Amino acid sequence: MATKPVILWFRRDLRLHDNPALNHAAETGRPILPVFILDRSPDRPSGGASLWWLDKSLRALDASLQSRGSRLILRSGDSLIQLQSLIDETGADSVFMNRLFEPAANERDAEVAHALKSDDIDCKGYNGSLLCRPGAVLNGTGGPYKVFTPFLKALLAKTEPPAHTTGPRAIDTPTAVESETVDDWNLHPTRPDWSKGFDWTPGEDGASDALSAFLSGGLKTYAVGRDHPDRSATSRLSPHLHWGEISPWRAVERVRQAAEAGKAPAAEAEKFVAELGWRDFSAHLLHHFPTLPERAFRPEYDTMPWRDDPEGLEAWKRGRTGYPLVDASMRQLWETGWMHNRVRMVVASFLVKHMLIDWRIGEAWFWDTLVDADLASNVQNWQWVAGSGADASPYFRIFNPIAQGEKFDARGGYVRRWVPELRALPDRWIQAPWTAPPEVLRDAGVRLGKDYPHPILDHGQARARALDALKTVSGRGDDMTDRD
Ligand code: FAD
Repeated sequence: MATKPVILWFRRDLRLHDNPALNHAAETGRPILPVFILDRSPDRPSGGASLWWLDKSLRALDASLQSRGSRLILRSGDSLIQLQSLIDETGADSVFMNRLFEPAANERDAEVAHALKSDDIDCKGYNGSLLCRPGAVLNGTGGPYKVFTPFLKALLAKTEPPAHTTGPRAIDTPTAVESETVDDWNLHPTRPDWSKGFDWTPGEDGASDALSAFLSGGLKTYAVGRDHPDRSATSRLSPHLHWGEISPWRAVERVRQAAEAGKAPAAEAEKFVAELGWRDFSAHLLHHFPTLPERAFRPEYDTMPWRDDPEGLEAWKRGRTGYPLVDASMRQLWETGWMHNRVRMVVASFLVKHMLIDWRIGEAWFWDTLVDADLASNVQNWQWVAGSGADASPYFRIFNPIAQGEKFDARGGYVRRWVPELRALPDRWIQAPWTAPPEVLRDAGVRLGKDYPHPILDHGQARARALDALKTVSGRGDDMTDRD
């Protein structure tokens, strides 16, 4: 009888390097059946921009597998049913996977493993996506850390970086197995297809190139540069990390090697490692507090008197609030599927505090439009800005969009790039065009209310309203300290 193959169940680990499930499957010496299942049932359905990415990433993974003599089998529908059908078709007796840690996916995986094991199928799960498996780092009393810095310290002290691996050179895959095609799945956004301006290279090679560009560019001045949306000082690895096209430990290893080789100060490399730590911290919080996508971490914040403001919300989504930094950011998101971290904080604060719109509504918009949309990171960061999260921004921190622009986009380069109707305004007024004298506006060709909107709200009044609303939230975090 032919050797029984191992099913390698790809999910958000779309790479061959540093892939623990693949390495363990290869160690068995048996044929490997790489499969990806489009299963829309257990998790929150992926947003439009994420699916755009998935389309390309699957094609890249298939090309990598083909270069090693294999190919990617695609199936859609319920994961367990599809795995059982592949087992029937091929006689496979093992399923190896890298784990997903979101609550619903985790539960689904447990059910799949239970059902397969009761059919005598060997089911093995590994961690290929995080620095540390959620639940593995606990505080001195055995509970979850709720503050980032001690969590990161404990994580780095406890975890041994895995050795870098490139995967088997040749992968023996059974040939007579039917596959759907990526084209069948129509993963591009429709009505409208807003992905035309997306300029990314999904896939393992794209991830490696993005990291190399960062090592020879932004890393040197990362700690300061990462706050400036007009500079290319960050890695742009987030969508690659989300889809598992690079392992976070590989990113850590390469930045540390760059620092050791004198290409960047060690402090800059460690600042980058800490940011990767926030990704793990988000997953850790979601693991321990699975209601975070729906409920405030600090329950008192669930009594916030949110406003219903469909027109304001639409202005925010479309980048028509009249605040240039907010509008530039929202347009960057729509046009490229990504937004710089500094301005993610500014626009989220604007929605939640200036407009008093529920953070879950903003989170949902990001979920649909970000190529890096990630349940744990998105929810954790929205709650951080709203003040309702663990180790969150204090309630009285209300980002001033004008001051943020003057500080982090001082020459207005970012605003000019994404809000071209303001391009000719001098630096002095670029962040607050309504304060410019009429002749300055005229010379710059800007007619407020026609070419560019008047501000939809007054910053000072909105700030006062937000503080009043936040005061109605009982016990509004008097125990909070600002750790940012
Ligand atoms: P770099 O500065 O190069 O950082 C390296 C990596 O560290 C990132 O790729 C990311 O994986 C991780 N990282 C950095 N900052 C954070 C952070 N604050 N939280 C968690 N991980 C972080 N990030 C997502 O990956 N998905 C999301 O859905 C998401 N939603 C967000 C929503 C809001 C309101 C805010 C304020 C932030 C959100 N972030 C999210 C975090 C952060 O903005 C992005 O990870 C970062 O901008 C990605 O760009 P980069 O890869 O160039 O980051």
